[in-house]
Amino acid sequence: MKQIHAVENIAQIEPYIPGKSIDTLEREYGVKNAIKVASNENPLGPSSKVLAHLKDLLLNPLEFSRYPDGNGFKLKSKLAETLSTEHLSIGIEQITLGNGSNDVLDLLARTFAGKDDEIIYSQYAFAVYALATQACGATAVVTEALDWGHDLQAMMDAITHETRLIYIANPNNPTGTCLSESELFNFLQRVPENIIVVVDEAYKEYASSSFDGYHTMLPELKQFENLVISRTFSKAYGLASFRIGYVVSSVTIAELLNRVRQPFNNNGLALETAVVALDDQTHIRQSVTLNDQGMTHLIQGFDTLGLSYIPSAGNFVCVNIGEKCPQVYESLLREGVITRPTANYQMPDYLRISIGTMEENIRVMTALKKVLSILNWQVP
Ligand SMILES: *Cc1c(COP(=O)(O)O)cnc(C)c1O
Repeated sequence: MKQIHAVENIAQIEPYIPGKSIDTLEREYGVKNAIKVASNENPLGPSSKVLAHLKDLLLNPLEFSRYPDGNGFKLKSKLAETLSTEHLSIGIEQITLGNGSNDVLDLLARTFAGKDDEIIYSQYAFAVYALATQACGATAVVTEALDWGHDLQAMMDAITHETRLIYIANPNNPTGTCLSESELFNFLQRVPENIIVVVDEAYKEYASSSFDGYHTMLPELKQFENLVISRTFSKAYGLASFRIGYVVSSVTIAELLNRVRQPFNNNGLALETAVVALDDQTHIRQSVTLNDQGMTHLIQGFDTLGLSYIPSAGNFVCVNIGEKCPQVYESLLREGVITRPTANYQMPDYLRISIGTMEENIRVMTALKKVLSILNWQVP
């Protein structure tokens, strides 16, 4: 295969490492009843309304032989209605749907940046920003983190004539750090308006409950034509496997994204399901309450064990295990507990643990305690 060469920027991409799946673990390690707290999914799964609706959809299998609505009219209309408030009207022409929000995050890079252009994101920020940047051939400008989070002043200082786009995850994954609305607002006021600023609100539902000063940046769309808000159904809505997400932007940006987007980038089942999911806000509230309780349980457990952690506004938390981290990760796998190592984020001492059901949280803490004691772990 010596003759086959990818273009330079693609050849240099380091593949994304997803969290280990339960199936893989059970197959490779021979453990049973494994739990996965590695990819920040909602441990409650989708709402019961969604499940009931899915059953109905399956009664009409002919639907599945037709192409879905490539414009996603029904879901966009529902989103527009749900996102609009007394002070803000969101139109369907401002919404771009994606096969997961990752799809649209990638579209953004391909639409607005290419060779000789620069994209800014932060150290420890979500891995997909680096992937999207490299795939479109742009140059990554990675600013140093401040207390594990985005240093907006450093990002401001990194802007050059070549800058086309800035990614900000708020809250950030994997660190769980969060910026307040006023910090982001001040930043947006200073960024030149030809530069696209993407605020990734994948964990928005959790941050609204856990972080004082958090607010979605949707209202700022009125004022900033270069602002793009990214959201997903993969986390609080419990639909990660359906692959559906979206961005809200100015009409100008949405029209450009629409040219690059694959005509049928969303599957019909996901489009239908997301509409129903939006209707069950009770499920979201229950999920967020469970998350708040689980977060408290985990960090109290860490405190008892003498482990430090990064305070998180999301549905996951990074805990500092120290240099024995790879052994602790492995031993937890043998206990049937899948966590996420963050070495690929240059955080080799940390494990990221997603908040589970209370039963799962208790299992995580019990396993962690056992493993640390077997490994003779000492507070670093
Ligand atoms: C999980 C996550 C997403 C969601 O990705 P999907 O493609 O919508 O599943 C987006 N941004 C961040 C920061 C995430 O952690």
